[in-house]
Amino acid sequence: MKQEFIFIGPPGSGKGTQTKILSKEYNLPHVDTGSLLREEVASASKEGELAKQFIDKGQLVPAELVSKIIKNRLLKEDCKNGFILDGYPRSIEQAELLDKILKEIDENTNTSIKVFYFEIEEKKLIERLVNRRTCSKCGAIYNLKTMEIKDKNRCEKCGGELTRRKDDTEEVAKKRFDTYFQETEPLIDFYKKRGILITINADNDIKSIYEKLKGAIK
Ligand code: AMP
Repeated sequence: MKQEFIFIGPPGSGKGTQTKILSKEYNLPHVDTGSLLREEVASASKEGELAKQFIDKGQLVPAELVSKIIKNRLLKEDCKNGFILDGYPRSIEQAELLDKILKEIDENTNTSIKVFYFEIEEKKLIERLVNRRTCSKCGAIYNLKTMEIKDKNRCEKCGGELTRRKDDTEEVAKKRFDTYFQETEPLIDFYKKRGILITINADNDIKSIYEKLKGAIK
């Protein structure tokens, strides 16, 4: 059975951290639209230049562009047994496009889709975001406030440089929350009505959240 997981939650709710662990343990690719878009921006492609204008303002990149990127990614060989979608879909429009994409891709396959909603109060999130650092080499995620890190500039796993995302400033983070509440939150009802939504309390430590997640997958 092909396993397809969708992670929904506000910026900084810990979706990326949990996906990385789950992805390793279940051998499923971590498909993260934020990273795919940042790669596109770094490559200075036409699509990347367009995406940058929205990312820098904390707005959603147009649905057609993201869906094209997602479809290309989901067609790759490593997604044939399933995948974890982190940060996609982020609007009803994208969820409807995803339905179409999955119909095309999974036509004759037996699949199981589960949607995890990472629930956490907004006021806890800004602090998480401004203290978030990402390893520029291996992508590990750190929080300067809640984790004990010897050198705040170096990754403890691979020695890579820890960087702060450009859109993790307080100003852009606030805009990203507005976008989340307006565009993404309606997805909670959308998937609840289908009976595939599982709510996870994201205001907990990494290990406890992961245990809950694993328990819900079985
Ligand atoms: P993230 O790394 O998930 O926080 O995403 C960073 C930024 O990339 C967002 O603020 C959006 O501008 C853009 N982005 C990521 N995923 C999507 C998506 N599914 N649809 C539109 N824009 C996205």
